[in-house]
Amino acid sequence: MILKKLRNDVLMPQVGLGVYKMTNSKETVNAVGEALKVGYRAIDTASYYKNEKEVGEAIRKSGIPREDLFITTKVWNDEQGYDETLRAFDRSLSLLGLDYIDLYLTHWPLFDKFIDTYRAIEKLYEERLIRVPGVSNHHKKHLLQLENKVNVMPMVNQVECHPYLQQRELKDFCKERAIAVTAWAPLGKGTILQDELIKELAQKYDRTPAQIVLRWHLECDTIIIPKSVTPSRIKENFKLFDFFIEKNDLDKLANLEHNGRIGADPSIDDDFS
Ligand code: NAD
Repeated sequence: MILKKLRNDVLMPQVGLGVYKMTNSKETVNAVGEALKVGYRAIDTASYYKNEKEVGEAIRKSGIPREDLFITTKVWNDEQGYDETLRAFDRSLSLLGLDYIDLYLTHWPLFDKFIDTYRAIEKLYEERLIRVPGVSNHHKKHLLQLENKVNVMPMVNQVECHPYLQQRELKDFCKERAIAVTAWAPLGKGTILQDELIKELAQKYDRTPAQIVLRWHLECDTIIIPKSVTPSRIKENFKLFDFFIEKNDLDKLANLEHNGRIGADPSIDDDFS
């Protein structure tokens, strides 16, 4: 497992399990349990996913010491605002059955609330109820607005990122500010696994297409949280540390960029509540 040192020296595992759309309780507990068994130590949930309770249950069942785990959750849009975020945090904490969260994120830059939301996250950080303050789906313009209004800038920004949407400009900006980037939909939700180049590289390196894409993220110094409920895939998505992709192949993968966004565009100030 590779650990990434964040701006405040906290170590975050570079590979975690994403649990979006895990709606079946038993399946979720099993998937998280399986991931912890094969060596994952980071789990990415959100109040929006409605499975924090199951994530907590799997954590307790695993018997792994709390300090060895890295748990991320997020405040959803209908919970945003200063006081609302503090209350949402208490709910998440109690559903997870934990007494602190490793990384707490504003899920979406809701145009009239994301600054107050992040101020509450900052307070939770000051009170040591979270180890790392962060945001998700924040573009440069949102981060610049935060910069003028907060004392401690986010240490992680979780954004959609995969070979079809590589986020190079945003990543460069985050690097300048020492904000680590986590890729959500690191596999493009599975859609990019049929790409001809990725299939060709999978043959060349004797790996699966998913492993090629996930290893590419690691070569780009990005944190990843691939989602799967299938034990063999959970295992496959974690077997990334015994090979690397050559520079000339990384250059070919760079050419797959075509602004191929799957999710909503956070630069459009929509009301997502
Ligand atoms: P993903 O790119 O991780 O793709 C998941 C899908 O890929 C799975 O449903 C499965 O069908 C397929 N898959 C997984 N492993 C595979 C393998 N080895 N071989 C073949 N197919 C495989 O997409 P995602 O779940 O949307 O994103 C990952 C995580 O990111 C989520 O679970 C969630 O935790 C987080 N997320 C965050 C946001 C946000 O707004 N912050 C948005 C979406 C997702």
